[in-house]
Amino acid sequence: MSSPAYRIRSLEAELEETYRSVAQLTNELAEANERLEHLSLYDALTGLPNRSLFLDRLEQAIALRERSGGSFAVLMMDLNRFKDINDSLGHNVGDELLQQVADRLRTVVRNSDTVARLGGDEFVALLPTSTTAEGSAAVCEKIISNLERPVVLGGETVDVGVSIGIARYPYHGSDGSKLLGNADMAMYDAKRCGRGYAMFNADQEATARRAALLPGHVSRAIEEDELVLCYQPKVDLRSLRVVGVEALTRWRHPEFGHLMPSQFITAIERSAAIKPFSLEVIRRSLEQTLASRQAGLDLTLSINLSGRALHDWELPRQVFDLIEHSGLPPDGLMLEITEDALMIDPERALAVVDRLHEDGVRISIDDFGTGFSALNWLTRMPVSEVKIDTSLVENVTTNLEHRKVIMAICELCQSLGFDVVGEGAESLEALKILKKLGCSLAQGYSIARPMAWDELLAWLDNWPEQIDCAGKPEPAA
Ligand code: C2E
Ligand code: MG
Ligand code: MG
Repeated sequence: MSSPAYRIRSLEAELEETYRSVAQLTNELAEANERLEHLSLYDALTGLPNRSLFLDRLEQAIALRERSGGSFAVLMMDLNRFKDINDSLGHNVGDELLQQVADRLRTVVRNSDTVARLGGDEFVALLPTSTTAEGSAAVCEKIISNLERPVVLGGETVDVGVSIGIARYPYHGSDGSKLLGNADMAMYDAKRCGRGYAMFNADQEATARRAALLPGHVSRAIEEDELVLCYQPKVDLRSLRVVGVEALTRWRHPEFGHLMPSQFITAIERSAAIKPFSLEVIRRSLEQTLASRQAGLDLTLSINLSGRALHDWELPRQVFDLIEHSGLPPDGLMLEITEDALMIDPERALAVVDRLHEDGVRISIDDFGTGFSALNWLTRMPVSEVKIDTSLVENVTTNLEHRKVIMAICELCQSLGFDVVGEGAESLEALKILKKLGCSLAQGYSIARPMAWDELLAWLDNWPEQIDCAGKPEPAA
């Protein structure tokens, strides 16, 4: 039998052992808790803070500024070519790309800043010490130049690029969701304009509201005659004869004022309202052209057709009904479509274009030279004309590279038998160069701005005398 002293010692040893196990369990529990907390606060793929940790830090930054005053910035970032890379090279490569982007973002910003991944290819940064607009713009420039460097992914080198929207507390929002929403809006603006980064401006909010409302106003606009059609002449550069006019729509809106196409076309293109809108523009401009034909003028009417309308099987029949009703010959109508519009669903667009062509309507490719011109489409399309984009033409007098591109387009189009229109010629000098480079036709402010129909008729009466006054373009060299 053991002595009481021995029993006490062994009980003490047992107790110590129990303490040790409890301490170990407590440690393990704390570590597990930490891991759990990490998982709930950090993005598993990139290790960056996730949305909930970011929102928490954003709230803290707001609370601090509410007490002590001052400002800070939030940057919303979206990768430009992530979807293409992910779709073409696979999700594993996409994941690796996100990890590399996260590493780069981490190194670009300060320790006091927070970069988080919101999901997909969307990242966000909180710059709590960035108190000026210039300061946050400088950070954007650093991020952009860092992400402009190619990324190497399993042997492939890819260019990803980023668009960034900036919202600054308290000017662009006094709570987290407003700041993030406005940074997001600015980011879309940067993406749309290809500008790299953009600061939120209050006009964007008004623009977004207008874009949401406009589709619902189209039927009223048609009934109340709010759509105004302007016509810009297209001239043969050799004979200086006006061969046609392009209908360009403006909207006299009772609430939003005089709207240009850039302010409403995209908004209504996203909705079903583009259909009645397109048909109304065609109907009205056909009516006016018919009246001019009856007065002895022989002008081709060009109308812009939106991408969405081009994917509508019913469109060819409806256009043909309008032409038949107007009494104009179908080849008096030229429909202008952009390359981008074709690329949404090329086969379907091609089928719709073919049907229009079978009915006798002519097809023009608008804004050529801006997108990723998939040249093989040109050979499969029943094209009559190609219009070189204003962005290439506007610098034609000063930019040698643009001149080379225009000449190459002209050669290509000549060999395919298409007319080439130089669009956006703002000076007589530009008209002369376009003619030398091989454009057969031109449109632009140097000839005439888009005008109301009556103005156009008066202008036609004087053409080409007025260009004589300004200095007639020289004959082709
Ligand atoms: P677009 O079809 O490429 O039309 C040419 C644009 O360039 C017109 O702008 C025209 O006013 C402008 N422009 C003409 N000459 C010059 C010049 O010398 N210099 C400069 N800087 N610009 C010149 P607008 O009228 O603002 O139309 C913009 C775009 O909106 C059009 O580009 C067309 O894509 C679209 N659009 C206009 N009306 C309609 C429409 O009724 N339906 C559809 N779907 N789109 C339309
Ligand atoms: Mg056009
Ligand atoms: Mg154009």
